[in-house]
Amino acid sequence: MTVRQVVESADVTAKVGDIPSLERLLGSEAALILAVEVGRSRLAKALRQLLDEIRPKALKGEVLVSTMEPGALLAQVQKRLAQQDQPRLRAVYNLTGTVLHTNLGRALLPDQAVQAVVQALSAPANLEFDLQTGHRGDRDDLIEELLCELTGAEAATVVNNNAAAVLLKLNALANRREVVVSRGELVEIGGSFRIPDIMQRAGARLVEVGTTNRTHPADYENALGARSAMLMKVHCSNYAVTGFTRSVSVAEVSEIARRHGLPSAVDLGSGTLVDLTQWGLPKEDTVRETIEAGADIVTFSGDKLLGGPQAGLIVGRADLIRKIKKNPLKRALRVGKLTLAALEPVLALYRSPELLPERLTTLRLLTRPQAQMQLQAERLQEVLQAAVGEAYTVHTAAMFSQIGSGALPVDQLPSYGLVVRHAGSGRSGRALKKLEDGLRQLPRPVVGRITHDAFWLDLRCLEETDEAAFTQQLHEWVA
Ligand SMILES: *Cc1c(COP(=O)(O)O)cnc(C)c1O
Repeated sequence: MTVRQVVESADVTAKVGDIPSLERLLGSEAALILAVEVGRSRLAKALRQLLDEIRPKALKGEVLVSTMEPGALLAQVQKRLAQQDQPRLRAVYNLTGTVLHTNLGRALLPDQAVQAVVQALSAPANLEFDLQTGHRGDRDDLIEELLCELTGAEAATVVNNNAAAVLLKLNALANRREVVVSRGELVEIGGSFRIPDIMQRAGARLVEVGTTNRTHPADYENALGARSAMLMKVHCSNYAVTGFTRSVSVAEVSEIARRHGLPSAVDLGSGTLVDLTQWGLPKEDTVRETIEAGADIVTFSGDKLLGGPQAGLIVGRADLIRKIKKNPLKRALRVGKLTLAALEPVLALYRSPELLPERLTTLRLLTRPQAQMQLQAERLQEVLQAAVGEAYTVHTAAMFSQIGSGALPVDQLPSYGLVVRHAGSGRSGRALKKLEDGLRQLPRPVVGRITHDAFWLDLRCLEETDEAAFTQQLHEWVA
């Protein structure tokens, strides 16, 4: 039956008897072809489900004969199955202006790391196998030397994420004993990671010292006693304490710890391996500087400023790392081979620091020149204007990006992008929401942000290699 014939006969209401049987549908040519693709049992199940839905409607006279054609029913089922097969985890365009966006997956891996992951997925690897001796190996060996070389630490280990690193370190080094932390550093990172809660789950007792804005060396000294296990500092990742403030430096805390024969630990959060100021980015203490200042244990994330896969890195004194590795939680929190495969090439890039802005995706995005993004905005302005239509106006505009993931929360990077406003008068909120929803429904969803009565698309994370596909999608959206 042709499309026209279907339309012409569409006015006839179907009776239950008009519904084709499952056997008849499965025997049709269209079904045989579709079954090759999805398998006969899955097709039969989907068809049966559809027929079950149609029957009660046919009884009420709500179904047309034309839609009961085997071809039409199969087309409907094919569409449903295709929808089911859409992956739930999909690539999007991150035009939010936040480079390390936790909800959008944080750091993007450089090509070397992507290739290494693909290889690790498809071939056996020496994950825990020493190729020198032929004996059983330790998966940490794959990256420990490199991490020590890059941070100046004696030893290193790696777990699933930095939250796990903090949990493990506390449990291994301070179970049933006290850990002294400044009140100004009792942070909540988001995603319900709170230092006091992690501390409790790790079995350690939190001893708070100082006040929210001021903590002095004597506050730490006075809190130490027979039950003390460790002094810990935490990076105030996603907020800043400014004004009348005093915090005790890593060097000072470490010195106090050493005098009392206790270890000092620093949770650096983002944790960078290079001085970012050489590329005009804000100052952030490096892991090496923190180790050199005297910290015995430093923990940091793999997928924040480091630019690698999700991981929690722990570096520091060899005897403490040994204790951490022997803790049963280490086994529960260990990383898989995909993480290690991705981590090694990312760390290796740091051996050539001056090449990082070109090779490390995160740093390349963070250091994109504003003029380059301005040219890109000018190229894309008309394309987006044509796509959104006359109900909106699209302008190019300077804006600010954020690094994200709690790194350097108050610093903003000069960026460029597109600003979409509602053209008509009034009700602009609803129109902008509609535009935001539309862009999010595209095959590769575009994520921006609504603020100041406009929809903002920051182009920092739209690399030029992605621009053609981005433009193509907008062209097709118009159609
Ligand atoms: C981000 C962060 C964490 C948590 O790290 P994940 O890798 O997300 O688990 C812990 N501490 C600080 C200070 C952070 O900034």
